[in-house]
Amino acid sequence: MSASSFLEALKAEGLTVVEVGDWRNHHRDHKGPWGPVHGVMIHHTATRGSTRTVDVCREGHQDLPGPLCHGVVTKDGRVHLVGYGRANHAGPGDDDVLRAVIAQKALPQDDEAGTDGNRHFYGFECENLGDGDDPWPAEQLEAIERAAAAVCRHHGWNERSVIGHLEWQPGKVDPRGFTMASLRERVRDRLK
Ligand SMILES: [Zn+2]
Repeated sequence: MSASSFLEALKAEGLTVVEVGDWRNHHRDHKGPWGPVHGVMIHHTATRGSTRTVDVCREGHQDLPGPLCHGVVTKDGRVHLVGYGRANHAGPGDDDVLRAVIAQKALPQDDEAGTDGNRHFYGFECENLGDGDDPWPAEQLEAIERAAAAVCRHHGWNERSVIGHLEWQPGKVDPRGFTMASLRERVRDRLK
């Protein structure tokens, strides 16, 4: 979908959206393809502080240039748009998982990392330390649910198009602190 459609879909799902800089034209398209998109990937940032978190997700860091996702869901439940197009969030992952997402079937265990995920997934980074102790406020969890549902609704996908980074790439643990099964249930109910 276009950047404008993405923005409108999020707003239509009831989200408070913050546009950060020239997010529509901030991407990694010069490094590889973007699309066809097949799903939504959820992450935690392992950072503290909303301002810094949004900044890191927009700019990236020395080893990994930004944008690091499309939308950042801060603890207050706002969605900050930091980029649109190819973004450095998913990395290489399991082609069996991608096939399951496309077919909207239950996910197999991720045990390979040979497929470019940045090409095929929308990415939402969620402000959380990911240490298992840092809380996930209700407003934030609801915003994650709404953001994922907004994208699914636009594309006509069901909740099985929503996966966690930990379900894509072996060794990844994010998001930590809630289960993707619980999030998918919420997205399913919202899409009814
Ligand atoms: Zn991640």
